[in-house]
This record gives sequence, structure tokens and C-alpha cells, in this order.
Amino acid sequence: MNNKCPFCEPNILESAFLESDNFLAISNTSPILAGHSLIIPKRHILSFLDLSEKELSEFIFLGQKTAKILSDYFKSGSFNLSIQDGFWAGQTIFHLHMHIIPRIQNDLKSPGEWYHELEKTAYTTEIDSSIRPKLSKEDFLKNVQDLKNFINKLI
Ligand SMILES: [Zn+2]
Repeated sequence: MNNKCPFCEPNILESAFLESDNFLAISNTSPILAGHSLIIPKRHILSFLDLSEKELSEFIFLGQKTAKILSDYFKSGSFNLSIQDGFWAGQTIFHLHMHIIPRIQNDLKSPGEWYHELEKTAYTTEIDSSIRPKLSKEDFLKNVQDLKNFINKLI
């Protein structure tokens, strides 16, 4: 537990649309593109290298499940996966997180531009970047609920 970590705040559960025993899939409050989500461990783990073998498979499995759901929901067969692990890799929130970003044709000027968009937040430690536009709380919570409703229909 780290009191300054946004992913360890109790209200992080408002952002979650899917979970496994030890991990959450959450929506990003300042998405690069629609559907920009994160897979995070429920307990404060800094690095990908700190995951046990069991946690590692659970983390990747939830990532794959989330990518499938986002691909269906946003009707996109393409997506980016990314982990920035450590300060020099651009990690800004020191609680392991994997970005999952569904992609569609012409969503950015070029397909590779997503990383530049992600990097704009590299030197801020806040989950809600002041550089990227933030969704209103109401719109954000509605998006999370819509996604949960979509998932419930699948089960
Ligand atoms: Zn944390």
C-alpha cells in the first residue's frame, strides 16, 4: 500500500469494468483514444519483474480477455499493448500497469503515433494528465457502466 499511489486509492474501483482475483481492468480517465484501458494489480506492485509466475499468467490472461472485449465493443480488430517499466522507460505511476488501446482505421494521423500521445504524460505523476483532455466524471462513469453492461450480456 502506498498512500500517494492513485491506483491504490479505494475509488479506483469506480474505474474498473473487469477483474480477476488479483488484478483489475480499469478505464483511463484521460484516454488517448476511446477505450484506452489499463490492467493493474490490486496490490501495490512496482514492476513487471516483481510478479510471481502465477500472477504473471493471471495478468496476461486478463489483458488478453480485456483486449478481446474492447475489440468487440469498439469493433476494432487492432489494439496496442504497452508497459512502461521503470523511470527511464517512461513509467510515471510507480504501480505496474499495462495499457490496452483499441485501434481503428484513421484514428490517429499514423498508426504509430499512439506512443507519442502516451508520452505526453511522461513527466507528470498524476493519473489525470493536465495535458490530455480529461473526460467529465459523469461521462467517464457512464462509459465504465456501458462497458460493464456489455460484458454482463456476454456472460
Ligand atoms: Zn499502488
